[in-house]
Amino acid sequence: MGGEVKWYHRPVDEVFELLESDQEGITDQEAKNRLERDGYNEIETKKKHGPLYKFAKQFASPLIYILLVASLITFLLGEHIDSAVILGVVFANSIIGFIQERKAERALEALSEMMVPEATVIRDGDRKVISSRELVVGDLVLLEAGDRVPADLRLFYIKNFTCDESPLTGESVPVEKITDPVEKKDVSPGDQKNMAFAGTYIHQGIGRGIVTATGNHTEIGRISESIRESREIKTPLIKKMESFGILLSIAIIAVASFTFLAGIFRELDILETFLASVSLAVAAIPEGLPATLTITLAIGVKAMASRNAIIRSMPSVETLGSATVICSDKTGTLTKNQMTVTKIYTANERIYSVTGAGYSPEGDFNLEGEKVDPLKDPVLVETLKTGFLCNDASYKDETIDGDPTEGALLVSAKKAGKFHDHRLDVIPFESEMRYMATLHENEEGEKIAYVKGSPEKILEMSQFYFDGESVKDLKAEHLAKISEKADEMASMGLRVIGMAYLKMEDGTERIDPSQLEDLVFVGMQGMIDPPREEVKESIKKCKSAGIRVIMITGDHSLTASAIARKLGIDSEGSITGSDIDKMSDKDMLKAFENVSVFARTSPEHKLRIVKLLQSRGDVVAVTGDGINDAPALKNADIGIAMGLSGTEVAREASDMVLADDNFASIVAAVEEGRDVYSKIQKIIVWLLPTNGGQALIIVLAILLGLTLPLLPVQVLWVNMVTAVCLGIPIAMEKRERGLLNVPPRPTDEPLLIPIIKRRIALVSLLMVTGAFSLFFLELENSMDIDVARTVALNTVFCFQIFYLFNAKSMYEYVFRDILSNRYMWLGILVTIALQALITYHPTMNFIFGTAPLTLEHLMYIIPVGSTVFFIIEFEKYLYKKNNWK
Ligand code: ADP
Ligand code: MG
Repeated sequence: MGGEVKWYHRPVDEVFELLESDQEGITDQEAKNRLERDGYNEIETKKKHGPLYKFAKQFASPLIYILLVASLITFLLGEHIDSAVILGVVFANSIIGFIQERKAERALEALSEMMVPEATVIRDGDRKVISSRELVVGDLVLLEAGDRVPADLRLFYIKNFTCDESPLTGESVPVEKITDPVEKKDVSPGDQKNMAFAGTYIHQGIGRGIVTATGNHTEIGRISESIRESREIKTPLIKKMESFGILLSIAIIAVASFTFLAGIFRELDILETFLASVSLAVAAIPEGLPATLTITLAIGVKAMASRNAIIRSMPSVETLGSATVICSDKTGTLTKNQMTVTKIYTANERIYSVTGAGYSPEGDFNLEGEKVDPLKDPVLVETLKTGFLCNDASYKDETIDGDPTEGALLVSAKKAGKFHDHRLDVIPFESEMRYMATLHENEEGEKIAYVKGSPEKILEMSQFYFDGESVKDLKAEHLAKISEKADEMASMGLRVIGMAYLKMEDGTERIDPSQLEDLVFVGMQGMIDPPREEVKESIKKCKSAGIRVIMITGDHSLTASAIARKLGIDSEGSITGSDIDKMSDKDMLKAFENVSVFARTSPEHKLRIVKLLQSRGDVVAVTGDGINDAPALKNADIGIAMGLSGTEVAREASDMVLADDNFASIVAAVEEGRDVYSKIQKIIVWLLPTNGGQALIIVLAILLGLTLPLLPVQVLWVNMVTAVCLGIPIAMEKRERGLLNVPPRPTDEPLLIPIIKRRIALVSLLMVTGAFSLFFLELENSMDIDVARTVALNTVFCFQIFYLFNAKSMYEYVFRDILSNRYMWLGILVTIALQALITYHPTMNFIFGTAPLTLEHLMYIIPVGSTVFFIIEFEKYLYKKNNWK
């Protein structure tokens, strides 16, 4: 269907006709047929890179180059077995790297699948939320500010409607849309003003359009084949590790070359010295490190997702662990966003309390403790009616589709009775304006605008009030009284919405903000929004983790403070948006010292708060849901968007999305972020001494002119087998306790903090001493170099297994947890099996120059290898006792 039809050129009726749809939309059955005919509404991405490319990419590493050169030279020197083994290791390494990266990528792909965009459509006359990929030609789509347009649409109804078409046209100024046909034929998409194109955003207003093209037939689908950006699975830390690897390689080559030259200078056997230098190089290179770190990150990201925090940009995994401030919205994030109206104040100075819970339409109206008939008070009726009519939510079977604030107003009205009027127009709610208005025609044909919003805003726009009989002037005294009541309700933690109306001239079809003055005030409704139970606990955790919690809300300062108090957010009073406007940066910085509640704010205030906090060195996580929150989300160190209530624009601007909108999930993500970092540290502290130790053994042997205790191929073997089988299980360790009992890690903290450096040195030395002594003892005893080398090899190996247990925790003793990690035991069993193979299998003996050991050998290798375990646990003791750094 229809690439040729110029939808923009045709009037709306014709478009409907051609697409065989009407104002009720198509039926579900028809949608199914069309889906079968046209396929899913998704843009097929060009196959990015094949597996072969990804495999080949694994070779592009300086570490691998060294090995390849070593393999080539050993081959030329006639050492064919060594050459083959080195080559084998290179391949094994690439295969493992490939698999790990694939796994990490899969984990990320699974994440993007969790975030499938949805679209609101009208089908069979009913509003429905469906997955965007199921949209078909002829569907009617409802759009509002912040949405991403899901398919190409011909607009047939719009209100204040502008689109940000920069993804399509590159033009960043929002485009005003129309519904009339475009006169000219053959105009570019940028000039098709009555179309909304897939991939662009609604900047403002609301609109409705009929789908004219889906998937690859959309404009954006046609011009670009790979919209979906591929996600980077690296973080700054991993990149740092990679450049560290390059530096290390250069250093290693330098040292190896120097050693080689020194050997030649001392007139040693050239071949032997060369092999020794190669050993040195391969011993020092941590081959398994990059792949292990990547998989650690992927595991971390998965763990976060299972706790409802979906990572969109990898670097934030690290940043999360060092967050010092979390700026959070109130409604929905700290509270449940399940609003129930409990108090109603009417302009005739009555205060009703409303019973009932949740969204059930059962409930009574009480006045001074007595149950009353709500329909007897015309002012109450007007108040309820305004809440009911000036409303975009819909109510069905005790559930609400739309804004919970509006849902509560529907329910309170339903408790009294039925209201019905014909709606002509709407000015949608926007955070900055703090009100919403609708235009209705009642049974008598009168045109009435209903307005609801924050009490301040409504009172500011009101000039009159309704007392049940007539409309009267709103005097200053009365006004003050109403404000007082509003404050009283707010300080109970209620969210208060004011209601007013305005009779319009006959013939009015549209309303405009400029017409909304001299309103008739009718009342206010106050609703509870209970704090989320689990958030209290999370806020406590933040306190012990040294993370400040700041509430930034559009709600009233008294409501905000009341909720903050209930949740345990400490704040000396609160600051409002208008205060912020008057405050200098210096005042603000001073205020941050003891104020944590910011109320009646707009998104610009949020942005300013984020920037100022950052200027004093804070690492800021900030939540947002609206289209105007995007700048704050982008500027923050960690921008967090809402998965349930947020707009698509906010999600696109964020680093992380909360699947459940819950503050507790942010804290969980911080904990996971700290966990990932601590695991990376553990892997490094475990892996590097192995390389350090082996390198030291060889350097020492060369410098002292001794026989090499380890052959290059043997070193490669240990490095490969242990890095994979033992290194990865560290990433599978369960989260350490107490991650949230320490202050955030400074962002500029180097990777190799003192304890890591010390431990690397200590373990390297232990390993050298152990392997060296046993090697020479054995050499003297048996005079068999192969056996002696096998002893050295197994000693190094044994050290690594025992040291692995220490690595379960950087600072804590591990005795009690020793059995906890199944993967670790599995890894150990596999390594032992492989080690047995290389020690006892004749072919392996031939390839690797090893020889079978006796039980007696093991009787001293194991105790020597185990020393590291006790020594490191003792070091932890000293560390704690002496408060070492
Ligand atoms: P928040 O979500 O942080 O509580 P909002 O910016 O959504 O803040 O709302 C600000 C104020 O606007 C609310 O305190 C309320 O008085 C008013 N308000 C909220 N939602 C609506 C709505 N749908 N219609 C009219 N007024 C609203
Ligand atoms: Mg809100």
